[in-house]
Amino acid sequence: MKILVVEDEQALLHSIEKILKEENYYVDGTLNGYDGLQLAQQNIYDAIILDVMLPEIDGFSIIKALRESSIRTPVIFLTAKDSVVDRVRGLDLGADDYLTKPFAAPELLARLRVLLRGKGDNYEAEVVYGPLKVNENEYDGFIHDQKLNLTGKEYLLLEYFIRNKEQILLRDQIFNRIWGFSSESGLNVVDVYVHHLRKKLSIFQCDHFIKTVRGIGFMLKGDEEDVSKN
Ligand code: CA
Repeated sequence: MKILVVEDEQALLHSIEKILKEENYYVDGTLNGYDGLQLAQQNIYDAIILDVMLPEIDGFSIIKALRESSIRTPVIFLTAKDSVVDRVRGLDLGADDYLTKPFAAPELLARLRVLLRGKGDNYEAEVVYGPLKVNENEYDGFIHDQKLNLTGKEYLLLEYFIRNKEQILLRDQIFNRIWGFSSESGLNVVDVYVHHLRKKLSIFQCDHFIKTVRGIGFMLKGDEEDVSKN
């Protein structure tokens, strides 16, 4: 299980990291809201522990940005004051739970276990759509079990398509999810990578799975026979 911790008090960040590592979680930690958002967008975490008051981008804005780009990673936010308004705001924005500082290590661990409960059993490293498949452990895509040899970004793109199959994905939604806010590339990088991906799919006559929704974005959708014969 991989956890992201975003907390600008260095001592607190280090102690949370230490507690989590002792429990055998993999941990990424950052002091800065901007880096936190980028990490959350570019990596796959099982949960995020997120302080509210942060430099550059506050925790609420991070939750909002993640949920708007369809990243559903469970979030526990940390709030300094016991403020009902803050708690309601965080939960309304899509956080799953909160802790009021100061809190004890066992409490944090207990909340985290609740959030992750069942995830180990239900979370699928492999997702399938018709003949298409991605496997997180192999970090590659497959068609009828034949490897596609995808690059990192192509893999992320295909995984995002399959996890959100038959839904229109806006160009900037895809961009934010895969390239992140800091990227200096323009939105057309999305079209470039969709082109690369279609080319690899075309080897198996599967490029028609990625539909262009003119002026808006893209959608992964096979014909009925593609999807039913599996
Ligand atoms: Ca803080």
